[in-house]
Amino acid sequence: MNRRFFIGAMGAASVALGAGRIAPVSPKYVFLLIGDGMGGAQREVAERYARAKYPSRNPVLSMNRLPVRGMASTNDIAGKVTDSAASGTALACGEKTLNGTVGLGRDLKSPLRSMAYDAQEAGMKVGIVTSVPIDHATPACFYARVPKRNMYYEITEQLPQTGFDYFAGEPLLGRGRAKGKTAPDQLLEAGGYRLVKTRREFDALQAGDRKIVVEHKMGYAIDGGQEFPLADLTRKGIELLDGEPGFFMMVEGGKIDWSGHANDLATNIHETLAFDEAVAAVMEFYEKHRDETLVVVTADHETGGLELASRSPKMVEVVDAQESRGQKYVDEVGVWKKQGSVSAGTAFDRLVGDFGLSDLTSDSAEHIRKAVEQTFKSREKDARDPEIQKMYGKRNAAVTSCLHALAECAGARWTSYQHTAALVPTTAVGVGADQFAGEYSNADIGKCLKGLMQG
Ligand SMILES: [Zn+2]
Repeated sequence: MNRRFFIGAMGAASVALGAGRIAPVSPKYVFLLIGDGMGGAQREVAERYARAKYPSRNPVLSMNRLPVRGMASTNDIAGKVTDSAASGTALACGEKTLNGTVGLGRDLKSPLRSMAYDAQEAGMKVGIVTSVPIDHATPACFYARVPKRNMYYEITEQLPQTGFDYFAGEPLLGRGRAKGKTAPDQLLEAGGYRLVKTRREFDALQAGDRKIVVEHKMGYAIDGGQEFPLADLTRKGIELLDGEPGFFMMVEGGKIDWSGHANDLATNIHETLAFDEAVAAVMEFYEKHRDETLVVVTADHETGGLELASRSPKMVEVVDAQESRGQKYVDEVGVWKKQGSVSAGTAFDRLVGDFGLSDLTSDSAEHIRKAVEQTFKSREKDARDPEIQKMYGKRNAAVTSCLHALAECAGARWTSYQHTAALVPTTAVGVGADQFAGEYSNADIGKCLKGLMQG
C-alpha cells in the first residue's frame, strides 16, 4: 500500500513528549516550490549539466540535495493527463478537479480552499511568486476560483480580494481582457495594493511592506540580462514576510513547462537552474530557521516526455552553443522565408552552425536538411510532407529538428510536445518533511500542507 498522508486528519505533525504525550508541531515558515513541467528527467538533466559545468560542486542543485524524497502522480480527477490548472488546484487545495479548472470542484461550482487561505486564517503572511503571469493557472490556483483557466480578468479581479501580502511575477494577463471593465490598476488600488513595476521601487521595498504586487516581464534565463530573476523575487518575498507569526510562500518556475512544450533542452535546463536558484534562496533562510521551516519542492506534471540516455562528454559544449531560446531562431527563419533572401541550403548551414551541431550523424543531418527544405517549401503547412507534418505539427520543423538533434547530442531525447503522466519527484526538508517520503498523489501534497498549516 502506498504511504498515505494521515497527517491532514490529525491536523498537524506531532512529536512525542515525555510520557507518551503528543504535542502538535506546525512549521512557522512554509515554502512550496513548484517547477511547472519539471519531471525527474528535467531535474536530472539540469543536474548533469551543472555538475559538468561546475565539477567542484557536487551534487549541485539545491532541490536535489533535500533529504526526503517522494514521487507524486498528477492525473486530473477524470484520470486524464493533467494540465496546470487541475494539478495546481490539487496541490493548492488538496483535492483533484477537472483539467482547465482553477480552485473549483469537478462540478465547476463547488469552491475548494487553497492552503494560502488556511495560512492566512492561521495568522500567517502569504506570498505568491512566479516566473510567468501572476494570473496564470498555477499561481491562480492558490488564490482564485474560476471554471476556466483562461478567465484572466476574473482571476485578476479576485486577486485584490485575497488580502495576501505579496504577489510577484509577469504582468497580469487580465490587463488584456479589461476592455469595458474596471481597469486592473483601479481594482488593485481599491483593494489597498501597491503596484511595483521598476527595479528601483522593488529594491526600495522593506520588511513590513504589505499588499504588494510586483509586476514585470521576466524573460528567459538562457537569454540573460533578466532584471527580475525568480530568485530575487523569492528573496524579496522572504524579506517582506519574515517575522511573527510566520508565513506561507508559493514559488513557481513556470517556463520549465513552456520550454518543455517547445522541446528546447538548453532553455529548459536554464529555466530549471533559475528555479533552483530560488530554491537556494529559500535554503539560505532555512539554514537560519531549521526548527521552524518546511521546504517542499515538487512539480505539477512532466512536460515533453524527456528521456535521458548515456551522459554525453560534450554536454556543456553542446548546450552552451545555443545562445538564446529556440523561438529566436524560429523568428529568424520566419524573416529569411519572408524576405526570400536565404535559400534552404544556406538556412541549413546557418542553423546547424548557430546550434553548434558540428558532429551530426549523417542520418541526423539528412533529417534536418529535409525539415529545413520542407519549412522553406511552402507557407501552407498541409502542403508539407505528411511525415514532417506528423513529427512537427504546427511547429517550425527546421528549428525543432535542430532542437531535437541538440538534445540527442547532449544525451537526452524529447518524446512528446505535451504534458505526460510521468510521476514527478518531490523533495523536502524541515518540520514535517518526513511526510513527503514514498509515493502519493499531487492532492496528497496539498492535503498534507493544509493539515500542517491548520495545526
Ligand atoms: Zn504546459
